[in-house]
Parts: sequence; structure tokens; C-alpha cells
Amino acid sequence: MGDGFNFAQLKKAILGLSKATDWEVAKKEWKLVGITEADEPEQCLCGHFPIIDLCSITNGTTGNTVDVGNVCVKRFLGFRSDLIFASIKRIRKDMTKAIGEDATVFFHQRGVINNWEYGFQQSTMKKRKLSGAQLASRRQINEKVLAAISRRGIA
Ligand SMILES: [Zn+2]
Repeated sequence: MGDGFNFAQLKKAILGLSKATDWEVAKKEWKLVGITEADEPEQCLCGHFPIIDLCSITNGTTGNTVDVGNVCVKRFLGFRSDLIFASIKRIRKDMTKAIGEDATVFFHQRGVINNWEYGFQQSTMKKRKLSGAQLASRRQINEKVLAAISRRGIA
């Protein structure tokens, strides 16, 4: 691949932690469970260094959990973790912006945002003009999301 992301190495590592021996089947055993921005650069399973945007993925069959770089998670496992990281960067820059659909579903599934906030997100996500109360709710959701990230591991 030539850009430091070694698919063969990643595949070998992931297969070693999976039950399936076929890559296409093995991939489906994994799901995204956590999002971390590392303080210190780390190395991806593929050998790429440095990585800051880390995704924790868990294998539902074997119970194994590993951290993989955002790029590999998107490119090789097909999870749109890049959209979640984009949401985080957007709200960190401007707390009046909303996180997107992927981040909303992910943080709701992880228990970071509650059912009321999940509904609120859906009805206001695309709105630029919010009432004072709505803006306060949006900021509160954003703060919870950012707190979940900085805690390093929200699973
Ligand atoms: Zn990688």
C-alpha cells in the first residue's frame, strides 16, 4: 500500500483474535465499542505510527478487544468511525454545532446520551437556529460526548 498501513499485518493480527479463519467472516465478528484520542501517539496493529484517533473494537465471538487506528477501522473493517471523529472535532471547535448521525447512534448505544437526548438529536441535528433551551441541551449533549472521549475508553 505504501502509506504505512500494512493490511497483511493487520489482517493477521485480527484473524489471530477471531474465531473465523476467513477474513470476510472474521470481520463480521467485530464491532466498534470505543473511541479514544490518545495523549501519546500509539502504534496501530498494522504497524502504522503514529496514531492518535483510536477505535476500540471487540469481537463478539471470542471476547477479544483491541485498539486499532481510525484509518484501518474505516478502510479494512468498514466502520465509519471517521465520521464519529469528525463530529468530535467539529463540536470541540464549536459547541453550538451538533454531532452527526453516526456519532449520535454510537454514543446512544454506548449509554453516553440518554433516550431523551437521542430523540432531541434527531429533531434538532440539522437546525442552525435553536431556542435558548435547545441550545443548552445541545451543549449538554456535546459536553457528555467530549467527557466520554477524554476518559479514554467508554465501554
Ligand atoms: Zn492501522
